[in-house]
Amino acid sequence: MNSLKKYLLNTDGHFGQFGGRYVPELLIPIMEELQEAFFQAKKDPSFKNDLLNLYHNYSGRPTPLYFCENLTKKIGGAKIYLKNEGLNHTGAHKINHCLGQAILAKRMGKKRLIAETGAGQHGLATATVAAKFGLKCRVYMGARDVERQRPNVFWMEQLGAEVIPVKEGGQILRDAINAALRDLISNPEDTHYLLGTVCGPHPYPVINTYFQKIVGEEVKKQLGGLPDYLVACVGGGSNAMGLFYDFLDDKKVQMLAVEAGGKGIKKENGKFAHAARFGAMPDGKQAGEVGVVEGFKSYFLQNDEGQIEETQSISAGLDYSGVGPQLAYLHDIGRVKFTYAVDDDVIAAYKLLARTEGIFAALESSHAVAGAIKLAKTLPKNKIIVMNCSGRGDKDLFIVTKKLGDKNFANFLKEQTKNV
Ligand SMILES: *Cc1c(COP(=O)(O)O)cnc(C)c1O
Repeated sequence: MNSLKKYLLNTDGHFGQFGGRYVPELLIPIMEELQEAFFQAKKDPSFKNDLLNLYHNYSGRPTPLYFCENLTKKIGGAKIYLKNEGLNHTGAHKINHCLGQAILAKRMGKKRLIAETGAGQHGLATATVAAKFGLKCRVYMGARDVERQRPNVFWMEQLGAEVIPVKEGGQILRDAINAALRDLISNPEDTHYLLGTVCGPHPYPVINTYFQKIVGEEVKKQLGGLPDYLVACVGGGSNAMGLFYDFLDDKKVQMLAVEAGGKGIKKENGKFAHAARFGAMPDGKQAGEVGVVEGFKSYFLQNDEGQIEETQSISAGLDYSGVGPQLAYLHDIGRVKFTYAVDDDVIAAYKLLARTEGIFAALESSHAVAGAIKLAKTLPKNKIIVMNCSGRGDKDLFIVTKKLGDKNFANFLKEQTKNV
């Protein structure tokens, strides 16, 4: 296949050995219905129009492509540009695929959205579009995550969504996914499962890549030429696919994906101390292995029995053991290079971007910032790097407060809730 762009939006959802649809029998007709609806909609100019309208009028697209002049000077290497997805409505790129899937669900006559969420960011974006489109909304969230991510639970409920704490298994994201799938099987007629990244069974990776590719398309126009490097952080991979996609056939453009290095690429007390599937463990072997989990084939951080393992990262959005099948393929053919940033480097990058440019990047996005800074140092001044700032940092207030040990602010928080 000579066009990677065509290949990665193909209708059968296989990307080399990755992708596919490994789901219970009962889910197959539901996935087929969704696939058909999507490929029909994609051909329909009115669907495309609706989508562009929402991007523009609801989310505020196009988001700026901004030249970080001060940061560039400070680093002294390649020119660093920042694609500011944090200026989207709800503060991150997630709204791109939520809007797309919401209008697709409407078109299919669905009355109800369900979603899984770990950190709560995806649940929040789903609750947002459900409110806007008058759809019922239920968000499944591991009970442990509900405790850890209270602010997002609060906002989802304010938006009218029902948040269901899932009390099975480890009470985290994968248990929420299973609960959402069971719900979908019980309610196939009226429900759309709004999956939150470029993972899951076919057609989700294709659908979400399609709804995210606006990011790279805008960059191409805004830059008026090709960059030398694109840099994005990778959890499941949706913001990276969004930035990379439109450039995949431009051979001159190199791509760097930055995973969560957590406390280093190693195990601590038998558990992964990071979430970097492509990072090398102390024995030299890549941490992630090929497996079939949650309905698709890709690389996962897993144990010897093929069960996915918990991961660790300062950023909740990258704290996930799997990676999208298209990215797994792009890794294996060498089109996208992978690296990682450890928590301490992420915090340093977060601070440096704030102090030089006045921009708080989300902790997820700060991985891309850390990766871009490291890369810029190795390149001459005439090279151009575009990094994706997938979200803004406001949501990380409590994590950063803890990490920086800001006692005054901690006291303020205690005071605020005294009489609730
Ligand atoms: C959820 C999230 C991510 C990680 O998800 P991807 O699918 O890998 O993009 C990255 N950045 C932000 C701001 C997020 O909210």
